[in-house]
Amino acid sequence: MTVKDAIKEVGQAVIKDKVFLTDLDQAIGDGDHGINMARGFESVLPKIAALADDNDVAAALKAVGMGLISSVGGAAGPLYGTAFLRAAGACKGKTAIDAATAKAMLDAAIKGIQDRGKAQQGEKTMLDALIPASDAFADGIKAGKNAVECLGDAVQAAEKGVEYTKKISATKGRASYLGERSIGHQDPGATSSTIMLTALYKYLK
Ligand code: ADP
Ligand code: MG
Ligand code: MG
Repeated sequence: MTVKDAIKEVGQAVIKDKVFLTDLDQAIGDGDHGINMARGFESVLPKIAALADDNDVAAALKAVGMGLISSVGGAAGPLYGTAFLRAAGACKGKTAIDAATAKAMLDAAIKGIQDRGKAQQGEKTMLDALIPASDAFADGIKAGKNAVECLGDAVQAAEKGVEYTKKISATKGRASYLGERSIGHQDPGATSSTIMLTALYKYLK
């Protein structure tokens, strides 16, 4: 189990779902979310493969964040880029991640997204997957679960969060131009967040 392989799995999962994510964004945005995210990870994955095999989690996540910011246009690139950079800041010097550190990384990522995008839960964005995921992770820690078990719970909560985005109208991002007409469609960014968490969980479990 290595951070390089984990990122490879996450990136490949996003690339594999490029068309799906783009179709979702076609319905309520400008139809580029999958293209944006796939372009980002196609640029990032070779850089990750070239890193030292020292399992420096923060260095690898920093490379992902900088790579996404520099290669992805649109809203999601800088938001996810910031998320990865903040997650890196929350695990400096670590080569193994326990549940408390993982939770701190997730929360730092969420805070980064909110600092940058000024969205709250319930505005039909990636946060509607990530905040419930963080809450479920916290519950898992309270119940004495390990990091991977907590992540499994977080994935389930993120999936529910994606379902919830179908019921609400967007008030942030491009989909907000549609207002109520965005109801009935799941949010592309909440979906890509869940794809990433799921790929990480499948790799780690
Ligand atoms: P763009 O809308 O610029 O084309 P993308 O299509 O790549 O960018 O990303 C759209 C996704 O970005 C949305 O589905 C939503 O989840 C997310 N998003 C947009 N604005 C915000 C924001 N202010 N805060 C959090 N997430 C946001
Ligand atoms: Mg878009
Ligand atoms: Mg766009």
